[in-house]
Amino acid sequence: MSYDPSNIFAKILRGEIPAHKVFEDDTALVMMDIFPQSRGHTLVIPKVASRNLLDADPATLSAVIPLVQKIAKAVMAATKADGIRIVQFNEAPAGQTVFHLHIHVIPVYEGVSMGAHGGGQADNAELATLAKAIAAQL
Ligand code: 5GP
Repeated sequence: MSYDPSNIFAKILRGEIPAHKVFEDDTALVMMDIFPQSRGHTLVIPKVASRNLLDADPATLSAVIPLVQKIAKAVMAATKADGIRIVQFNEAPAGQTVFHLHIHVIPVYEGVSMGAHGGGQADNAELATLAKAIAAQL
């Protein structure tokens, strides 16, 4: 399957739709997930266009994992989470809903069950506060 540049993350990368940005450089954008599975659910999005991991350039994958590690540590520090899940879905039957490669960084809190994938929308003010708090840990 081919890459469709009208996907929502491509629109965010082009600045056509707003996002709660945590970090951005020439290669990647990091933002808060607006339907978070837990408080602090963050997405790492390489800028180079690919549908998912299956069609991504290996160089993109090599470059993104150190950033995922950095963001995971910052999310842990900012949220005081007890653990972190790193998740990535490939194609709709596997749970992918946005077809531009992204890696989920999902904090886990002891004794708190995780929300459903693609659940309720978070409060904008809370997302803005979280984005700032995570960015401050970078
Ligand atoms: P996927 O299921 O493709 O792995 O994950 C897509 C993620 O993007 C979901 O967790 C969903 O909550 C999130 N999402 C969908 N639309 C938007 C949006 O417009 N802005 C942001 N920040 N996240 C979105």
